[in-house]
Amino acid sequence: MRRPKPPKVDSREVDVSSSTVRRIARHLRPHAGLAAAVFALLVAGALLNLLPPVLVKRVVDEAIPRKDLHQLALLSTLMIAGPLAAGFLGVLQKYLSALIGERVTFELRVRLFKHLHRQPLGYFASARPGEPLSRVLNDVEGVGQAVSKTLTAVLKNAVVLVSAAATVIWLDWRLAVVSLCLLPLFVAPTRRVGKKRKALKRLAQERMAELTGILSETLSISGVLLVKTFGAEKLERRRVKRKCRELMRLSLDQTLVGRWFSMLLGLFESVGPALIFLIGGWLVIGGDARLGTLVAFVTLLRRLYGPASELASVHVDLVTSYAYFERVYAVLDLTPAIRNAPDAVKLAEVRGEIEIRNVTFEYRPGVAALEGVSLHIPAGSTLALVGPSGSGKSTLAALLARLWEPTRGAILLDGQDLRRLELKSLRARIGVVTQETYLFHATVAENLRYGRPDATDAEVIAAARAAQIHELIAALPQGYDTLVGERGLRLSGGERQRIAIARALLKDPRILVLDEATSSLDAVNEALVQAALVPLMKGRTTLIIAHRLSTIRNADAIAVLEKGRLRELGSFDELMGKPGLFADLWHQQFRQAA
Ligand code: ADP
Repeated sequence: MRRPKPPKVDSREVDVSSSTVRRIARHLRPHAGLAAAVFALLVAGALLNLLPPVLVKRVVDEAIPRKDLHQLALLSTLMIAGPLAAGFLGVLQKYLSALIGERVTFELRVRLFKHLHRQPLGYFASARPGEPLSRVLNDVEGVGQAVSKTLTAVLKNAVVLVSAAATVIWLDWRLAVVSLCLLPLFVAPTRRVGKKRKALKRLAQERMAELTGILSETLSISGVLLVKTFGAEKLERRRVKRKCRELMRLSLDQTLVGRWFSMLLGLFESVGPALIFLIGGWLVIGGDARLGTLVAFVTLLRRLYGPASELASVHVDLVTSYAYFERVYAVLDLTPAIRNAPDAVKLAEVRGEIEIRNVTFEYRPGVAALEGVSLHIPAGSTLALVGPSGSGKSTLAALLARLWEPTRGAILLDGQDLRRLELKSLRARIGVVTQETYLFHATVAENLRYGRPDATDAEVIAAARAAQIHELIAALPQGYDTLVGERGLRLSGGERQRIAIARALLKDPRILVLDEATSSLDAVNEALVQAALVPLMKGRTTLIIAHRLSTIRNADAIAVLEKGRLRELGSFDELMGKPGLFADLWHQQFRQAA
């Protein structure tokens, strides 16, 4: 097989900033108690593991020359007991390290999820598909691993290295100097490898996020439907294959970068003992050192060079872990554009009078989706929005729910600017029914209770009755407990909309934003939806994107939008009584219908 060319690696070094490091430290502070326990266990384990070389020295220098079998047996037993005890402590230490890591993961996941939900619609509209998902799953996982594995490894190797170094110095300072002189050889070449590995890891992360995106897009029901109807399976398969192959290559490269490096370090490890035997042997022959010291020394070398080489490669992991923290913090640092003002007012009683005051809105700077729109909707009245597709109707509706904020101008509720109102209390008073009804994979009852979890069964049923959907739900095998979605209930567009209407009725908002379903409904369903809307709109301030004659006729006022501007405003009779855009639209539709 031809080995594919490895992908290009961006090896620009990103500075490790001290503020981020401080932040990571702050993050770990709540776990300081556990971390201290881990440290104590590491120290105890390292000391217990130092026992065998020291015992070896006594075996060679004391027990054997004295032919003391009793001492020999005792020392040998201790040689087993020490590492055994260290092993037990090691298990406990690993558990505690994992505990810290899992706790950090848990907290971050919950915090990220909460934070993502505070982001405005715009964030999700412009994020790559699957990216928020990947942040919550993969990146946080990486952070947890960094804490439970990488940081612990640094600590452990440092403890072992320091304790072993102290012991070799105590054994024989001359040999210690020789062996410690070799240490820099292990540490020097790591920086370069570190950079490369870090870049590879970041690249792998990006590819993974892209793969998650493709998968969540193409494996969702609407994605599958599109793929099937367009026969695009092969195309999608190729896309996934390409990403998977890139990932495979990156992972392989990642392992190789580390491995060649380890091999080199392994070579140094055999140089050490050879040198010590040479110099130490010479000292022993000359009577300047004892044999036991030499043997113990060589046994200890493993505990000197092992941690040193691991510390060198752990440094590599440390730098890559840093990238995970950075990615997570990048999301946590997003300040939601739409958030409560410091002096936000909690809505108490709402009459529901709405004033749209000279509102201009731009999705992209310089391109106005709405321009200088002013409208007044008295409390309890209905305003119908009409206009060609793309004229800004949905945008205006979204502004009312403060899903976006006007670029210029203001929207007032009972005389208060929406931006001064507490978001939660505002959204609690607004019911939104869109054309696309989203239902969660849960029972019908749970979906209905979404806006008011404490509604009684009687209230749920009353709302469903009013929305003309009770009969249908009651006839299901499990009634209100039927699961919506996979392997459960499949609902038609009209049925879904009636459920959405029931859901809004149950929430009982003062203000209603409605996007009337258009052509997707057949005559029966249309009549049912219309009947469901009557109790919903009664007594509420309603902004409705209207498509139907009955809705438009009964509205208190009709606003006609075109290219983001308000063209006409008046009652049905007023607008029909004069030539203009509304009359044109109307006749056009009428002709089409006829
Ligand atoms: P309508 O509901 O009347 O069909 P919209 O309010 O959906 O019209 O759209 C008004 C204009 O804003 C259109 O030109 C549309 O392309 C644009 N638009 C809508 N949503 C977005 C968005 N999220 N980002 C950028 N442009 C958008």
